[in-house]
Amino acid sequence: MTVRLYLADPYCREFDAAVVEARGDWVVLDRTAFYPGGGGQDPDVGTLSGMPVVEVKQADGSVLHKVPGHRLAAGDRVRGEIDWARRYDLMKGHTGEHLLFSCLSRACPELQLVKIAITPCKKSVIVNGGLDWDAVSQAVRQAGEAIGSELEITERTVSRDDPCLAEARVKLERIHGDAVRVVEIGDVDRAACAGIHVRNTRELGMVLVTGLTSARPVGDLEVEFEVGDRARRMASDLSLSSLRAAEALGASPKDLLSALGNRLREEERTAAALRRYGAKALTDLVPSNIGGIRLYSGIFEGMDKKTVTDAATRIISERAACVLGTVGERFMLIVACNPGIKVDCVAVLNRALDKVGGRGGGKANFATGGGPGSERAEEAMVAAIAALSDTIMSMNG
Ligand SMILES: [Zn+2]
Repeated sequence: MTVRLYLADPYCREFDAAVVEARGDWVVLDRTAFYPGGGGQDPDVGTLSGMPVVEVKQADGSVLHKVPGHRLAAGDRVRGEIDWARRYDLMKGHTGEHLLFSCLSRACPELQLVKIAITPCKKSVIVNGGLDWDAVSQAVRQAGEAIGSELEITERTVSRDDPCLAEARVKLERIHGDAVRVVEIGDVDRAACAGIHVRNTRELGMVLVTGLTSARPVGDLEVEFEVGDRARRMASDLSLSSLRAAEALGASPKDLLSALGNRLREEERTAAALRRYGAKALTDLVPSNIGGIRLYSGIFEGMDKKTVTDAATRIISERAACVLGTVGERFMLIVACNPGIKVDCVAVLNRALDKVGGRGGGKANFATGGGPGSERAEEAMVAAIAALSDTIMSMNG
C-alpha cells in the first residue's frame, strides 16, 4: 500500500521516500506525490533522484513508477520530484472540468457526463443531452462568476449512505467500499471524486470553452475547454479573429453572427442560380465536328463537379465526345467519349495536363483530372481538344 501524498497535499511537488520493491523498470515506494492518473486525468511524470519517471500507474493498492534503466533496490532512499508545471495545469484542468460540467448541467439539466480527458494537449468532456451554444454561453458566464467569487474547494470523506450525497454528482455503483470522497466547490458543485484539485477557484483564472463538436456515438458532444493562462491567450486570439472576421464582413463585431448568417444565405442563393444557369449553358452547348464526331467543350467557372460530370455522362450516351471543365480553387477537366469511339481518354487527358502540371485518371472512355492554378484551365482544355482531335483523325486516317 503506497501512502498517497497528493490526497492530503495536492501541492506537494518534492518528497523523500523509500523503495519498497522494484519490478523490472517499475518501482514501488512507501509514499509518493506522483498521481497515477484517473478520472480522465493523465498520470504525472517527473524524476526519482534525477532519473526520469516516464509513466505512473496503480495496481493492488500500490503506485508504480516506471524508471527505465534504474538500479534501485528495496530499502534505497530516493527523492521524488514531479513535473510541476505539467501537473498544476492538469490539476487546474481537472478542477475546471468539475466547475464547467456543473455549470453546463445547470444550464441543461438533462446533461449526462460520458467521458473526460485532461491531458497536456487536450481538456474536454464528452456529454450527452442536447447541449447548445446558448447553454454553453450561460455556463461559461457562471463559471467565470464562480472564479471571480474565489470559492474554496474542499475535500472530505463520507460514508456511502451520507445524506449529503443526495445532492452530489456521484455514481455509487462505481465506488467500492463504504468511503466516498466528496469534493465541493463553494456551494456551486458537489461531486464524488478521487482525483486532485486546486484549493480555490481563483487559481483557475479563467475557464474558456474552445470547441463544441459532434462525438461518437452520434448524439454525443465533445466540449473542449482551456483554463488559466492558456484560456486567456486563446480568448484574446479568438477575440481578434472575431474582430477581423467582422471587419471582412463589413459588420460590427456584435452583429458578426447575423451578418455571417445573411452572407451564407446569399451564397446559397447564388449557388442555386449558378446551378440553374450552368445547367442551361451545358444544355445549350453547340458541338464542333472532328472527323465526323460531335465534340462538346467548355469551361464552366464556379460550377460544382457533379453537374459537370453528369453533363459529360449525358453527352457521351450518344455517339459524341466532350472536354468539359470547372474552375474553383483548382480546376477539374473531363475528357470523355462514347464507348463506341475507341479513344484512350486517360492518355489524351494526361497529354494535356502534362503541359500545366496536373494529373488525371479514370476509365478508358471517361477520364477526370485537374491541377492547381485555375488560370491554366483554359490552356489545358485547348490542349485536350487538340490531343483528342489528333487521336480521332489518326484513327480515321
Ligand atoms: Zn475531481
